[in-house]
Amino acid sequence: MLLGAIEGGGTKFVCGIGTPEGEIVERISIPTTTPEETLDRAIIFFEKQSIEAIGIGTFGPIDLNAQSANYGSVTSTPKPNWSGYRIVEHLKRRFNGPIGFDTDVNAAALGELTWGAAKGLNSCLYMTIGTGIGAGAIVEGKLLHGLTHPEMGHIVVRRHLNDSYDGHCPFHRDCLEGLAAGPAIEARWDRKAEQLESTHLAWEIESYYIAQALVNYTLILSPEKIILGGGVMKQSQLFPLIREQFLNIMNGYVNNNVISKDINDYIVQPGLGSNAGLCGALALAKQILAS
Ligand code: ADP
Ligand code: ZN
Repeated sequence: MLLGAIEGGGTKFVCGIGTPEGEIVERISIPTTTPEETLDRAIIFFEKQSIEAIGIGTFGPIDLNAQSANYGSVTSTPKPNWSGYRIVEHLKRRFNGPIGFDTDVNAAALGELTWGAAKGLNSCLYMTIGTGIGAGAIVEGKLLHGLTHPEMGHIVVRRHLNDSYDGHCPFHRDCLEGLAAGPAIEARWDRKAEQLESTHLAWEIESYYIAQALVNYTLILSPEKIILGGGVMKQSQLFPLIREQFLNIMNGYVNNNVISKDINDYIVQPGLGSNAGLCGALALAKQILAS
């Protein structure tokens, strides 16, 4: 049996065909142009094989309310023509099977729980730090949605004492994303994040913000594993810095062995590596087919 997967991003849509065991057998990368053109190319790719379901994990914010006229769309984005465009409905015109739809980070969390770093657990949190910051969570075996879906990148954080950068979030200015996403690092230091040396003060400041977020997520959601992905996390020196600051801020309050003895195994890299997003979409397809 084969399943379809779409990792929808602002610059490209990565589509894959895979098995219920999480193996991607074929993939294609389609530039994100107009919704019609991008989605038609995805359908043509999927029609080459017989697939039973499609899973889509996409950039957001998205409409997940099945009762809404705009279900299956990205609700607001600066990307021309995409705001309110009903992605799921477009695919349904040419595909009869079930279609799972969720945020890119929720999909990645599900992929990591099904086949990756959180395999065998009942809960996890997947956070991406890239052009933006977002996180998806699974609690008691279920993806977390609620009123719309969590927007964990826009939380309030305490300022690092050596940071005078204003912040770049158009809504909140110095929320977590405004201070710690890739473009914030670039604006603060006037250099691309990937060009800063590994011992730069930038990483101490960055890890302080990410650690605060992780402490908050742990206190609120109590995930059994935290997985960090996205372009900025390619700076692997961030992992020990984040773990250390996490323990400092937590200060022993959540006194569980997983945290206090095995922090290296609590805050981890994606088990699925750069496939976390696409495998996550595959996991959404598997889940919708099973339901
Ligand atoms: P997106 O979030 O757009 O899907 P990425 O996760 O690759 O894509 O994030 C892009 C951001 O990550 C950019 O701000 C870029 O500067 C930053 N980035 C990419 N690679 C690295 C790296 N090796 N080190 C630090 N920052 C990086
Ligand atoms: Zn914000």
